[in-house]
Amino acid sequence: MRRTALSACPLHCYDLCAFCVQLEGDQIVDITGNAEHPVTKGFVCSRAQGLIERHNSPDRILSPMAREGSQWRRITWEAALDQIARRLVDALEGGGPAAIMHIDGAGSTGALKGLGHRFFNALGGVTRMEGLAVRDRGRAAMRADFGEAASPAWSDLTRSRTIFLWGRNPAATNLHLIPYLQEAREKGATVVTINPVRLAVEGLADEQIAIRPGADVLLALSMAHVILEERRWRGDFVSAHVSGFASYAEAVSHFSPEQTAEEVGLDAETIRRLARLYAKERPASIVLGAGVLRYREGYLAVRAIDALAAITGQLGIAGGGIHLASDRHEIGRSVAGDDDAHRVASPCAQGATRIPARNLAEEVLRRKRAGSPAEPPIEVAVIHSANPVSQMPNMQRAIEAFHAIPFKVAIDFTLTDTSRHADILLPAATSFEESDLFVSAYNDYIHYQPALVPPRGQVWPEHRIWGELSRRMCALQTAQGTGQSPAQQGEGAPGWRSLLCADEAFWASTPDAWLEGILQPFGVSLADWTGGGPRPNPGLQVVPFREGSFSTASGKAELAGEVEFKPLLDRRKVVPVHHGQDRRGEEDFRLIFVHRPGRHNSQLWELDNGDDGADLALHTEDLRELNLRPGDDVVAETERGSMVLSVRADDGVPRRCAVLSSGKPLHDGGGVNLLTDASENSTFHDMNDPGFAVNDTFCQLRKIALAERIR
Ligand code: SF4
Repeated sequence: MRRTALSACPLHCYDLCAFCVQLEGDQIVDITGNAEHPVTKGFVCSRAQGLIERHNSPDRILSPMAREGSQWRRITWEAALDQIARRLVDALEGGGPAAIMHIDGAGSTGALKGLGHRFFNALGGVTRMEGLAVRDRGRAAMRADFGEAASPAWSDLTRSRTIFLWGRNPAATNLHLIPYLQEAREKGATVVTINPVRLAVEGLADEQIAIRPGADVLLALSMAHVILEERRWRGDFVSAHVSGFASYAEAVSHFSPEQTAEEVGLDAETIRRLARLYAKERPASIVLGAGVLRYREGYLAVRAIDALAAITGQLGIAGGGIHLASDRHEIGRSVAGDDDAHRVASPCAQGATRIPARNLAEEVLRRKRAGSPAEPPIEVAVIHSANPVSQMPNMQRAIEAFHAIPFKVAIDFTLTDTSRHADILLPAATSFEESDLFVSAYNDYIHYQPALVPPRGQVWPEHRIWGELSRRMCALQTAQGTGQSPAQQGEGAPGWRSLLCADEAFWASTPDAWLEGILQPFGVSLADWTGGGPRPNPGLQVVPFREGSFSTASGKAELAGEVEFKPLLDRRKVVPVHHGQDRRGEEDFRLIFVHRPGRHNSQLWELDNGDDGADLALHTEDLRELNLRPGDDVVAETERGSMVLSVRADDGVPRRCAVLSSGKPLHDGGGVNLLTDASENSTFHDMNDPGFAVNDTFCQLRKIALAERIR
C-alpha cells in the first residue's frame, strides 16, 4: 500500500525543499513537493528524483570494503572498525592528533552529519580542511565585518525597493527565491543583476549589468567612492555603529569610477548610477552568490560589498542587508561539539589545525617530506560528506597528496574521485535511511524526518560509526597506556583517552535524543512535528543587526580599510582582473565555472536525465575565430593539465571567456580541476580567507584535428 512521509532535500542547496516521499513497503517510489511549505510550495527540481536513483543505485556501496591492490574486498564491520581504531590510536601515539586529518564538506544538510566533529574534537586537535565549499568564503568575510554571517529572512526581500542579485543566478541555483523577487517587483522594487554572464532572468530583473569577471571588488569600491563623494552615506549610522571608517574612506578614495571603469567593464556613469540607486532607493538588499566568490579577490569583494551596506546604514533595517548565510541557523553545531561553548570548553577543538583547501595538497606533501613534531606527516585521513579530490584545485596534485597518506578511510554512497583512493570504504546511509534534522545556513526553515526505510545491505548511519570507533579506541590497550602522545606526556596535557572516553554516555544515546538536545534550548521538541512539515529555523532573525548590534569585538561593523584594499592598486598591475594584459596572452580564455544543471556539485551522477551535453560555452564570435561549431570537441590546456571538452554557443558568455560546467567525475571524462591551479592562490593575503580562485584559471583552446579524433 502506498503511503506518504514528509521529508526534505538533504542537498546543500539554498532552497532546502520540503518533500512528500511516496513509499510502497520499503521502496521509495516517488518524491513530490510538499505544498504546505510556505517557500518551496510543492515544487522540487529534478535532483529530487536523483536522490531516489542514488538510493536504489546498483553501484551503491553496501558493505565495508578494503583495498587489495587495485581491487576491493568485502570485509565485516568488525574488521573495518578494528583496523581503523588501531590506525587512529597508532597515529595519536606516534605523531599525535595533528597526524590525523578529518575532512568533511557540504554533502548533506543533516544536523547529525556534524557528529564527526564531536568525535574528532575529542582526539585533541586533529588537522582539518576548510573552505571546500565556496560559500564558506563569503561567510568568513561577513564574520570579519559583522562578527557573524547573518542574513535577513528571504521574505524580507519583499520590503526592499532595490535588489541587487550580485553573482547569484536564481534561475539556476535558487528557484524558490524567484517568487519573492517577483513580489518585490510587483510592489515597485527595482531588481538588477550584476554578473559577467548574461542570465536567463527575463521578467525577473529590470536590468542586467555585465561586469568583467572578477571585477566585483573594484565595482563595490567605486560605488563606495561615489557614495562618499556625493555625501550619500549615513553619518549617524556610521558614527554609532561602524568602526574603521577613516581607513576605509582613505582606501576608497583611490577607486573612482573613472579610474576603474575599464577594468570593471562599465562606463563611469553606469557605476555612478548604480551607486546612487543603491544609496537613494532604499531600503536596498544585496543577494550575494557564489559567482562573486570564485575569484582571487572574492573574499575582499564580499568585504567591500558588506561595507556598502554599512556606510549607507542598510543593516538592521527591514528590506535591507546582505543575503548570503546565517551562522545562527546552524543549530546542530551544539551536538557536534562545535559551537562556541564547546570550543571554549574543549582544548581539543581549539587545538585543531585548519588548512585551507587551496593549500591542502601541498601541505600534505610538505609534511610527508619534512614533518615536525608540531606538523607531523598525516598518517590517517577520514573523509565523509565530501569529495575533496574532485573539488580541490589542481586535481592531479590532490591525487598525489592522497596517495602520500598511508591510511585513508572514506564514507560514501558510491566510488567517487576521492573514495576510489581510499584504503577502507564504509557505506553511507542515504537521508531516507536515518533520522535527522535538515538545517541550512542558507535557508529559513528546518525539517525533521525519522528514518523512512530500513538501510540497504549493511549500511550504517555515520553516528554509529563514530560511536563504535570511540568505544573501540577506549578499549584498546596502547603501548604507553596513557592515551597521551609523547608531546602531551611532556606537557602534562589531558590525553585523548580521557577526553574520548568521557563521551561514552553520549555515544550510547539515540538520534532522537541528540536532536531533542539541539532543539531544547529553543523551546522546540520533536513532538512538535506531529503531522510533519517544515518549521521556521529557531535561529532565524527576520532582520539581523537590529539597533546596530554586531557581535564583533568592538560591537560595531568593522570595515576593511587601507591594509586590505590598497594592495589591490598594486596587484591590479601584476595580475589584471580581466583578460588580455601582461602575462595573459591574447590567445588565452578565462574559465568561468558553473554548476551543471540536474547535478549537485559532484553529487548525483546516477541521475539519468541530468544534462550531459556540452561542457564548454563560448560566445559565437569566439567559436568563429577558433573555427569551431557547436558540438565540436576541443582540448583545453592550462599550465596544470588538459581535458577534452565539447563546445556550445552562448552569446551571454563574455568574449574571451569560456563557461565550464563542473562536477563531472574524472572516470566519466570530467575532472575540471585538472585544469585549475592552487598556486594562483599564493597571493591570498588574508589568512581568514579560506577560499580559492577557480575562475582565475586561463586556458588555451585547440580544435581537435580529424586525425587526432581517429587515433
Ligand atoms: S536541489 Fe534544491 S531545488 Fe532541488 S529539490 Fe533539492 S533543495 Fe529543492
